Amino acid sequence: NFQNVGFIGLGNMGFRMANNLIRAGFNLAVHDINHGVMKMFSDMGIPAKDSPLDVAESSDVVITMLPSSSHVLDVYTGPNGLLHGGSIVRPLLFIDSSTIDPQTSRKLSAAVSQCALKQEKDDWKKPVMLDAPVSGGVIAAEAGWWFPGSLSVCQTPISLNGKKHNLLWRSRNWFCKLLQAAKICNNLAMAVSMLGVSEALALGQSLGIDASTLTQVFNSSSARCWSSDSYNPVPGVMEGVPASRNYAGGFASKLMSKDLNLAAASAKDVGIECPLTSQAGEIYESVCKDGHESEDFSCVFRHHYSGQDE
Ligand code: NAD
Repeated sequence: NFQNVGFIGLGNMGFRMANNLIRAGFNLAVHDINHGVMKMFSDMGIPAKDSPLDVAESSDVVITMLPSSSHVLDVYTGPNGLLHGGSIVRPLLFIDSSTIDPQTSRKLSAAVSQCALKQEKDDWKKPVMLDAPVSGGVIAAEAGWWFPGSLSVCQTPISLNGKKHNLLWRSRNWFCKLLQAAKICNNLAMAVSMLGVSEALALGQSLGIDASTLTQVFNSSSARCWSSDSYNPVPGVMEGVPASRNYAGGFASKLMSKDLNLAAASAKDVGIECPLTSQAGEIYESVCKDGHESEDFSCVFRHHYSGQDE
């Protein structure tokens, strides 16, 4: 029974995901280090807890949606963390939907699986941690598309025990490794396509074609992609995207920079040359250094290409 859900990390994604769970009828308890967002939840009557441990005490499943590996480690293993003192107080299921490096995921999965929770009489159950990175950005989070996929994945291991559980455990680790790898590769392709669309639109503007017209050309020809038709980086071309609200919200440039670093590290691990990964990483690093780290990653159009910083 996963009716009592703990949610930790209520930023651009987590805020929307948690609200979807509330609308779907789950009992939520939440935690974030941002007091403003905690107040928004407590004003809605949702228990806003002081620590991850407090969340764990009232939850059957805990979902984390945090910026990077170090934050996830902190929430799991830090003081008053989910694995306080190397033990688990209540949840049988932990779902991490943050995009982090696969080594950290595996390390935490192993730590969770070493704990055992006493149920009624002599019935012991092993808690499980699932790696469930999400895609689709704030639009998908708002629409709730992430939710069915994650939950159907997590039904399986929890219902098994003994030998079957161990078999599944191995395939789950393999599955999770692929999921994080797929997520990192997806974001690498997304960064490069965003840079390509921004570069081409900036060049088009300099050649005298306005961005809306050129976007229409792209979207009805071979340059069409998510960055041109769903998440256009030029202010005024599309409504409802970060570019139309001064690049606020969405997927922060510092998070894209983190994912490009993860992609570069993975490429190094397997000895593959990925020159566009390095170049995209440098561009996002410089956007962040120039003070735009919290703006949506489509802000490369403004800060790297269109010269509006000068
Ligand atoms: P965000 O920075 O908007 O939100 C992160 C939240 O975590 C913030 O509210 C922050 O206060 C909170 N937090 C940080 N450290 C904490 C701690 N120790 N304890 C409790 N709360 C803490 O990030 P986001 O855009 O929501 O992304 C979250 C994760 O999802 C990242 O790993 C990102 O790469 C991934 N992701 C984001 C998007 C997107 O479009 N934004 C899409 C897919 C995946």
